[in-house]
Amino acid sequence: AKARGRNGYRFYAPSMTGEGVERLRLETFLRRSLEKEEMFLNFQPQVEIDTGRLIGVEALVRWNHPELGLVPPIRFIPLAEDTGFINQLGQWVLSEACRQMVRWQDAGLHVPKMAVNLSAKQFDRGSIVSMVADILRETGLEPQRLQLEVTESVIMNTGDALAFINDLHSIGVGLAIDDFGTGYSSLAYLKQMPVQTLKIDRSFIKDISTDANDEAIAIAIIQLGKSMNLSVIAEGVETEEQAAFLLRHGCNLAQGYFYSKPVMPADLLEHWMPMLKL
Ligand code: C2E
Ligand code: CA
Ligand code: CA
Ligand code: CA
Repeated sequence: AKARGRNGYRFYAPSMTGEGVERLRLETFLRRSLEKEEMFLNFQPQVEIDTGRLIGVEALVRWNHPELGLVPPIRFIPLAEDTGFINQLGQWVLSEACRQMVRWQDAGLHVPKMAVNLSAKQFDRGSIVSMVADILRETGLEPQRLQLEVTESVIMNTGDALAFINDLHSIGVGLAIDDFGTGYSSLAYLKQMPVQTLKIDRSFIKDISTDANDEAIAIAIIQLGKSMNLSVIAEGVETEEQAAFLLRHGCNLAQGYFYSKPVMPADLLEHWMPMLKL
């Protein structure tokens, strides 16, 4: 038998539910997904609200399994984190994202920045900094063109987070705090971090024009970013009203379906090409 699950009796438990079986099947498929080349990346534009200019893209991983079809990240990222597969997957995502940047560059297209998500579990192993440095060296991407996105929980719950983040900063990559406002980062701690960007979580943007609390939170984050000299990007911008609200309150950077869904590189080029030509 293969390694046991954390509870030690997963394979033999009479109470194993359909859900458990499903999870196990998913886990087995997931393990082979990279060698079978079932993973690919989509890219979502990040734009300047007032000019519509592309300031960067966020890489978002996609898994297309022959039987299961397209499996959403919320179904397999947590599983990858639980099983440790996230380390391989995260490494693949980062190197593929960097390779894509170089491909664009070689084609004479200037995509200013690539944002890549890092999972908390990737910080458990001390090798994260050398992994990033190796990939940058192998692909030849300038560190300044890479921005790593981490959530507040990574920062608060990883023992050596500050040290890792300082090391990443020292090799020249940018850091963004993802889903900002949903976690519990202390501002005092945040102040010590060499981060450049806060991403306002989508949940605060969603009802921005109808929910006074969300509105207040979004405005507070924008102000906080300003006072700490950070860029603030609003996530999940779906309407022109939301974009206008953000601009009115001093946030000029956005990402969301209003501008574009995450897309394949070819679609990105088709729609943003005129702005990308050097
Ligand atoms: P995230 O990092 O917060 O990524 C933003 C998610 O919001 C993406 O979902 C994106 O498709 C979605 N989104 C963007 N604009 C809008 C919008 O206007 N409206 C709505 N309703 N949704 C929008 P996706 O691609 O399904 O990813 C979900 C989460 O999975 C990500 O949240 C991230 O936490 C994780 N994830 C995705 N790719 C990776 C990866 O390569 N590595 C890691 N560690 N996590 C990843
Ligand atoms: Ca993100
Ligand atoms: Ca986010
Ligand atoms: Ca999220």
